[in-house]
Amino acid sequence: MIVNCRGFRPGRQRSGILPIVAVLMLSMATGCSQSNPNQEKTSEQSPKVQEVGSTPSVQLGKTKVVTTFLPIYLFTKAVAGNVADVEILVPPGTEVHEYQATPENVKAIATANVLVKNGLGLEEFLEGTVKNAQNPKLTEIDASIGIKPLNEISPVVKTAPDEKDHDHLQGNPHVWLDPVLAKQQVTNIRDGLIAADPANKATYEANATAYIKELESLNSEFQQTLQKNPSCTFITFHDAFPYLAKRYNLKQVAVVEIPEDQLSPADVQNAISAVKKYKVKALFSEPGVDNKLLVSLSKDLKLTLRPLDSLETGETAPQYYFKAMKANLQILDTSCK
Ligand SMILES: [Zn+2]
Repeated sequence: MIVNCRGFRPGRQRSGILPIVAVLMLSMATGCSQSNPNQEKTSEQSPKVQEVGSTPSVQLGKTKVVTTFLPIYLFTKAVAGNVADVEILVPPGTEVHEYQATPENVKAIATANVLVKNGLGLEEFLEGTVKNAQNPKLTEIDASIGIKPLNEISPVVKTAPDEKDHDHLQGNPHVWLDPVLAKQQVTNIRDGLIAADPANKATYEANATAYIKELESLNSEFQQTLQKNPSCTFITFHDAFPYLAKRYNLKQVAVVEIPEDQLSPADVQNAISAVKKYKVKALFSEPGVDNKLLVSLSKDLKLTLRPLDSLETGETAPQYYFKAMKANLQILDTSCK
């Protein structure tokens, strides 16, 4: 629940009580799965989607790249430009954390040359799916190679015993929300694409360089804006922002899971004491979320509820990353004053 972000998600409320858990930052080096350097090059093997189950035949054409969910699609599309075909497995608007693969996903992977994922345990649905696709030519790119995941260490306030929610050995997966780590992801994707499709090396390099430049200026913008309000403390309903918080000296202190029907007075009381204890300044939900319980809780907490975008869903143009992140920066700036 906490690190793998099974908290409140738009349109997907989970039943249960309202644990408030402090999310403290602990960097932990853990082993990451590797992209497979032994895969053969597949640059000139670009089967059509319709050729389900067939072995990719050697033909001139674009490399087919499937990506898992929105941020990874955006980064990959930015690097690939028009020289490779880039698809997305989890349709924007669909929950990635508990996503169930479809037969179309299996077909897409079966006919792809490259699969790009976020990694850090986020895409649980891939495990059986990749196996079922039986594509020995598939090169996998783990965009989070080399990134040290963060893990929470101590729950602070609980309103009821946990069931079994601490199975997140790989750490928090939301690295794309830190522009500096996003740079690392773009670099990993670039290197993976070059390895899989060396013929287009120059294009991948140029596209990645341009995108990374934009990420760098986004990072400067965040630094300059947020340094005015150091250690701004916030509560969220989705454990998506520990990397962003760490980067810019903010504090994500609690993740609140909202029950399906109503908040008990004890839930509200616990939330209020956490807000006092941590001097919480901001309360974030997500864009498009209109939830009566969140609104009523925000009133009880005397905090304005504002949307912070995890980018797990949104528009599919690569520039959307900057648009959404700049909107996040505005929200943070306003909330932390
Ligand atoms: Zn998430």
